[in-house]
Amino acid sequence: MTDIAIVGGGPVGLSLALALRDSGRGVTVLEARPKGPVTDARAIVLAQGSRLILERLGVWADLASQVTAITTIHVSQRGHFGRTLLNAADLGVPAMGYTVSYEALHAALARHAEQAGIDVRHGAPVAAAEGGAIVYRHGEATETLTVELAVLAEGGRGLPLPESTEKDYQQSAVVCWVESERPHAGRAYERFTPEGPIALLPMGSRYALVWTTPADQVEARLALSERDFLEALYAAFGERQGRFKAAGARTAFPLRMALRGPGDTAGLIRIGNAAQLLHPVAGQGFNLGLRDAWQLAECLLDSAQGPLDGADLLLRYTRARGADVSAGAHMTDFLVDVFAHDPPLIAGLRGAALTALDLVPVLKNVFARKMMHGARTW
Ligand SMILES: Cc1cc2nc3c(=O)[nH]c(=O)nc-3n(C[C@H](O)[C@H](O)[C@H](O)COP(=O)(O)OP(=O)(O)OC[C@H]3O[C@@H](n4cnc5c(N)ncnc54)[C@H](O)[C@@H]3O)c2cc1C
Repeated sequence: MTDIAIVGGGPVGLSLALALRDSGRGVTVLEARPKGPVTDARAIVLAQGSRLILERLGVWADLASQVTAITTIHVSQRGHFGRTLLNAADLGVPAMGYTVSYEALHAALARHAEQAGIDVRHGAPVAAAEGGAIVYRHGEATETLTVELAVLAEGGRGLPLPESTEKDYQQSAVVCWVESERPHAGRAYERFTPEGPIALLPMGSRYALVWTTPADQVEARLALSERDFLEALYAAFGERQGRFKAAGARTAFPLRMALRGPGDTAGLIRIGNAAQLLHPVAGQGFNLGLRDAWQLAECLLDSAQGPLDGADLLLRYTRARGADVSAGAHMTDFLVDVFAHDPPLIAGLRGAALTALDLVPVLKNVFARKMMHGARTW
């Protein structure tokens, strides 16, 4: 019997399914993609708080050999003074975060879902989810599932969307791996340039690059020869890691913000990217989505067994998640905005802020803890 349908078997949907495995409720995941490994070039930085949740889900031990610990984050702006160094040792934590490929994260969650005997239906794109009826395609057939609760975790794609606060940054993230002359030694970089931020994230023996690129320059950047691409990166990023020696295949992700929230219909709740789609600059998207999944599971586990009170559940969940999601979304948008403008006065203020962050340990501590754990401690 299905009580709860999770639409979307991405990392957030699968995390929720795992968190609910002992809930006593029947859970079915409907995933549009066919069964098997996914292809996705993104690297994801898992915050310390996400590690704790993945440990509780029993997935971390499996993932541990595939993550790279970030021990230092170097934040700077090109062409202006001011930088800050966030150090795990100063904060008394083993790492500032952990880089993992989307593919490895997804594979570990999928493996655990299979081992737990969770009903995941692949090749099952959902066309409609209304009034407790989930309509999806399966092969040539159109099937309907009647459920008490539909959780939309489809990444904000594929289903009609409600109104939301939307912002098109007119940018894309160009992503690929790169090799630098100097070893990374666990150091990540966030370098703000007038075009947008460049992130270098240690992953294995290489870096995962996230290069924010104005929309009208994306095609040209993707089409560069490897040599020209590496030269352009060196010119934009600077010499801190020495020259860049090699790069993998490049992919671009258009960057938007869309804040839809959990919704206002009893029996239907949005989580993960389906609820909030963010710019990747602060590495918040999956970390917030995982906390969504964990919180929703907690609310469901707190509910009495028997028929679900959808309105009460939605209210409790919305109250529990509001502050964290709002803080993550506003911090992300603020960072994109404040570093996007280059007049000397603004650049000077940013430099002063970065220096203050570097010199005042208490400020640095608060900032780093918000990045690692969100608005509440997990
Ligand atoms: C370049 C880049 C870098 C990023 N870096 C970070 C980072 O460092 N840290 C971080 O926390 N976040 C990061 N993010 C954000 C992160 O990737 C997302 O927040 C995360 O993938 C959201 O997971 P999700 O499961 O909600 O959605 P998705 O990953 O989009 O998964 C949705 C799933 O739903 C399925 N689906 C879609 N439509 C349907 C349908 N109609 N029926 C059934 N199934 C459907 C899809 O096939 C997919 O499997 C980054 C994003 C980008 C673009």
